[in-house]
Amino acid sequence: MNLSSFWERSTPRTVRLEDPKVVAALAELGVQRESHTSLAELTSLGIGGTTDLLRTCRHEAIPDLLRLLDAHGVPHRFLGGGSNLLVRDGELPWVVLQLVSPEPDVVLEGNLAHVDAAADLGRTVTYCAKHDLGGMEGLIGVPGTVGGALRMNAGAYGMQIGAYVREVKLYRVATRKIETLRGHQISFEYRHTSFAPDDMMLAVILELPSKPYKEILQGIRICNEKRRSSQPLGQKSAGCIFKNPPGASAGRMIDELGLKGLRVGDAQVSDRHANFFINTGRASASDMLALIADVRERVTKAFDVVLECEVVVWNG
Ligand SMILES: Cc1cc2nc3c(=O)[nH]c(=O)nc-3n(C[C@H](O)[C@H](O)[C@H](O)COP(=O)(O)OP(=O)(O)OC[C@H]3O[C@@H](n4cnc5c(N)ncnc54)[C@H](O)[C@@H]3O)c2cc1C
Repeated sequence: MNLSSFWERSTPRTVRLEDPKVVAALAELGVQRESHTSLAELTSLGIGGTTDLLRTCRHEAIPDLLRLLDAHGVPHRFLGGGSNLLVRDGELPWVVLQLVSPEPDVVLEGNLAHVDAAADLGRTVTYCAKHDLGGMEGLIGVPGTVGGALRMNAGAYGMQIGAYVREVKLYRVATRKIETLRGHQISFEYRHTSFAPDDMMLAVILELPSKPYKEILQGIRICNEKRRSSQPLGQKSAGCIFKNPPGASAGRMIDELGLKGLRVGDAQVSDRHANFFINTGRASASDMLALIADVRERVTKAFDVVLECEVVVWNG
């Protein structure tokens, strides 16, 4: 099939992903389609409606895939490990794209780690550690993928992944091409990066300092212990709901207002860490959003600070 002429002939909005021609085009691109997938099952909060999930490990297929979706007026979102997402309820008005890890997903070359964006972050940290490459100890216990960590500039205990980025391979929405950006071309700030919202991370080269495994392991143990003693691990959460405002701690402000345990339906401010909001059972996105709005309003009234969400909300 000639994909270009097929796209040009198609009428946006009328063709759905179930259309046999679209299904055939997806198969030709090596993209797997899972229909009516529940995002509640793919996110650490356990909240979210249903949509079609498109999965591939073929980076080179991404530009054609996005062109195909555009041509049919099908909006999309990128899903990593789903550990920093609050997804709306019901039938979702966009499809979800997810990269699948190739084998191997981490290749080491001296101090450089070539990592696929779909690689699990924790496994990447431990794999590098076992080969005497450190620096990322603080990221142990941060769930999700390396692509999600890059997009969020994930960090903890004084470090952030951006500090180790030598280059990123990504699909850039501005040029509609796969490109490589050097570390100095990207700005990494506190849970914020200069990537465009629709850029898709595909792979990264991390440059890591050499350290003996034993020393790295010691750092990992300390970070694990800090998490265990302060976070509601084992409960459904997305980590911190709010970013810390400059010079302050969102968790401390919420705690000072006595809001631990506050709930809307099954959405609850954790008893253990006031900036972790948990799904204690069957919380809906509406419950969680109402809890976020309530806490934000109380903090604004008390401290004259408007808290910004760290969790990415897919509510549109
Ligand atoms: C228990 C717990 C503890 C946590 N602790 C921390 C912590 O200490 N520090 C911290 O920074 N975070 C923490 N988090 C939040 C979360 O784990 C991180 O933000 C993580 O890096 C998100 O990665 P992910 O793959 O799950 O991304 P997702 O949740 O799937 O996506 C997050 C955002 O990244 C985008 N995205 C994902 N993959 C790609 C891609 N390949 N290309 C383009 N965009 C993409 C998504 O579209 C979305 O906008 C914690 C979460 C939990 C549940």
